[in-house]
Amino acid sequence: MLLCLSSLFTLFSCSNKNVAPKTAEDLPLFLQNGEYTSVMSDEMRNTLRNIRHVSLDMDGTIYLGGTLFPYTVPFLENLGTMGINYCFLTNNPTKSLDDYIAKLRKLGVPCGDGQMYSTTAATIDYIKAHYPKAKRLFLLGTPSMISQFEAAGFISCADDPNDRPDVVVAAFDPTLTYSRLCRCTWWASHKEIPYVATNPDWVCPTDEPTILVDCGSLCACIAAACGRKPDTIIGKPSPDILLGIMEKNGVTPAQAAMVGDRLYTDVKSGLNAGACGVLVLTGETTLETALASVPEDRATIICRDIAQFGALLEEVRK
Ligand SMILES: [Mg+2]
Repeated sequence: MLLCLSSLFTLFSCSNKNVAPKTAEDLPLFLQNGEYTSVMSDEMRNTLRNIRHVSLDMDGTIYLGGTLFPYTVPFLENLGTMGINYCFLTNNPTKSLDDYIAKLRKLGVPCGDGQMYSTTAATIDYIKAHYPKAKRLFLLGTPSMISQFEAAGFISCADDPNDRPDVVVAAFDPTLTYSRLCRCTWWASHKEIPYVATNPDWVCPTDEPTILVDCGSLCACIAAACGRKPDTIIGKPSPDILLGIMEKNGVTPAQAAMVGDRLYTDVKSGLNAGACGVLVLTGETTLETALASVPEDRATIICRDIAQFGALLEEVRK
């Protein structure tokens, strides 16, 4: 009897739900009144029709590890045909912009000199704007990152207690040494010295059998040791880089989209900047995770991949 009642209840509640759980078959999904639907509203159609600039995350979005997705180049060519500009945006500060541009071109991805943005350049801009007198920086980062700061006119402090920095910068650093991590923590323990982190990511995606400890985790380590978190964290989900990109490209947030595979960095930065935040499921985030996210973190659109997003942009322009 109890079983019968329970079955009846299940039947009743399912028939009352009206909305079946979303599956990959339902993609793309559009956010409407805080819930996802596979029906594109007129408002969403207008949002997509207005887009004039697309900022793209790289790893998990246009390639995975060293493998370019087969639809990436046709997608970019299609954007050009529709008169939509694009750029690439990475939270990874370990390589120079030239290194990234060279990597993309080697993979066959068209990328001009002004179409690549990283958190290193954004951090340099931030320090120049907020600490105009700062010259000497303690940089926990790769030699490539340090050389970009030096090229921008800064002096990289040595691992020496007498070489006091004006600002401390913590970054994702695969060349990390214990001694420099300790020195960075020592300077971070001085509350009067500004302390900036390049990006909040806990780990860097990899297809190798390891976990790449990223800047967010290094900052957590520093905080555990000296009790201080960064004053500012540059990089997605901060909207600053995206707002700068919009300004350089002469578009408003309503004309911009940010596309990526992470909700808490890529999509969130788009939403924080007032732009369309598009999630693709070719990297870190599963559909289940995306659907379970809290309302304020929900992507404007969830697509299987950038090819599906390109097809939507094309469809609304017909
Ligand atoms: Mg990514």
